[in-house]
Formats: sequence, C-alpha cells, structure tokens
Amino acid sequence: MHQLNVVAITTSILVCWLILIITWERVSPYRKGLPFFREGFWVDLVWYTLIQSYFLKIIIFDYLIAPLKSHFDWSHSQLVHNWPVWVQVIFFLFTHDLYIYFFHRFQHSNKIFWRIHEAHHSVKQVDFLAGARSHVFEIIINQTIEFAPIILLGANPVVVPIKAMLDSMFGIFIHANIKVNLGKLKYFFNTPSLHLWHHANYQEVFHANFSTKFSVWDYLFGTAYDPGHEPGDRPENWGLFYDYPRDYFLQHAFSVKRFDERNLLKYGWFKSYYTLRPRLIKILLNQKHKFISLCTSLNNGEQQDINSVKHQ
Ligand SMILES: [Zn+2]
Ligand SMILES: [Zn+2]
Repeated sequence: MHQLNVVAITTSILVCWLILIITWERVSPYRKGLPFFREGFWVDLVWYTLIQSYFLKIIIFDYLIAPLKSHFDWSHSQLVHNWPVWVQVIFFLFTHDLYIYFFHRFQHSNKIFWRIHEAHHSVKQVDFLAGARSHVFEIIINQTIEFAPIILLGANPVVVPIKAMLDSMFGIFIHANIKVNLGKLKYFFNTPSLHLWHHANYQEVFHANFSTKFSVWDYLFGTAYDPGHEPGDRPENWGLFYDYPRDYFLQHAFSVKRFDERNLLKYGWFKSYYTLRPRLIKILLNQKHKFISLCTSLNNGEQQDINSVKHQ
C-alpha cells in the first residue's frame, strides 16, 4: 500500500481513538471531577503536542536518522525486509518497548536522566493529553532509538506511520482518566490504572510500573505495583513532590538549573512574557463579550423595528 494512504488511514484511526477516549473520560472517569481544560492543558497541547512534535520529527528523521543511514545502511542484509508488515510491526513494537522499560527504569534511578524525565511526571491532573509532556532530549533519545533501526534495517516504510500511530494510541490510553478492567490481560497489556499509579506521588511507586505498552515487563522483572485501590484525590497525591515551573521553556531550563518560577517575576521582561498568555486571553474574552453584546443589541433593535412595523 502507498505510504500516503497509510498515513491517511493511521491519522483517521488516531482521531477516532482520541474521540473515543475523550468521551470515555467523561462517561466513566478514574478520578471524578477532573476538568477537560485542566492545569497545563494548553502547554501540553500547543507546545508539546503540536510545536515540539513538529520540530523534533524534522530533527530526528532529517538530521539524525538520515545521516546515520548514509553511514549504516543495513537494508541489504534482508534481516527484516522479507517479513510480512505485521510481523515487522510486532517485532519493532516489542523490542522498542523492552528498551523503553529499561531506559525508563534507569531514568528513575539516575539523577541526571531524571532531569529529562521529571517533566513527564509534573502533570497533577493526568488525562489523555498528559503523556505528550516529555522533555525535548527524552523524545530525541527515545524516538531516534525507536525509528533508526526500522529505517537502517530496511523495514517496509509503512512500519513508521503504523508504529507512530500505535505509540500515540497506547500513550493516550495509559494516561487516560478512565476505568478499565482488562481481567487477566492486565498482566500483558498496560492499563491506565497501572500507569496512573506511576504518576501518583507515593514512595511505593517511585520505582515501579515502568512499562509503556506491555505491562508484562513489570511483572517479569518484579516492578509491578497494583494495590487494588486508587491513589488519593488530593493535589499532593499526584505528580512531583516539589514545585515545578508551568511554562514550557522554564520547564526545560529547570532541567539544567533549579529555580523558583515566582522569584523571576521581579524581572520586568520576564513578567511581561509570563503574563502574556493570560493577558491575551483576557483581551480575547473582552472582545468576545463586546461582540456578543453588540449582536444582542442589534437583535433587540431589529425586534423593535419589526414590532413598530406590526403596530403601524
Ligand atoms: Zn516515570
Ligand atoms: Zn506517563
């Protein structure tokens, strides 16, 4: 099948999946009362999901994997090339997921690598979008290691969009604020409850539930934590135990140098940058209110004209 068709199909499946999960979150939430536009929603959507993903895709594929391929092109080895596409997808899905398990586990035990993972744990109201929040370097490392073998080994080109779709679907699913009971399958496929516990602020899970797609790694290597009840619902029960910046650029700066975001407000240039978005929203809301009152007054005027015509 042509790669463009595959991209169109995978994108459509992803959109349907997104609609299903968002609806599911409203119908059967894991934590009741979480707002749709939660704290950090716009940072995760605009910066992490749209802008960061767009630029990192170019960096990873055009500036890292493409030069690698010019030096290490093993497609002639025919290692995976002749396998059916579905076998190639499953092969790369499992091998990469096993790598992610160990890398994720390492990030939780290494102070330097924790700095590029803590962003992912900083969301307190975890939902379908929370998985998008990942440090630039974390994505560069993980996605280069994920897609380079697919391209260097000469896998079918459609494996890339299919794998990317499955990544997004699993990412949305395991972070979704939904109640799911997979029965015995939970020992193989990761579930929201296992991963939501990973995002909870309890010492028992600081070194547990590292799996992304297949929970079997946690059960196999003895790092599964599934107490059979949900974490508490207070803000301190979720996310990081220390203060974390709310701004996208400061979140990245925080991984290099620790600071208190509120202290920076004493600098005029920072204050005007930091308050830019709330000010813009306020202006837009004011314009919206003005527009609505204008429409209402025009409508009333029209109604008065109609009434006066009727009474003549
Ligand atoms: Zn983690
Ligand atoms: Zn996560």
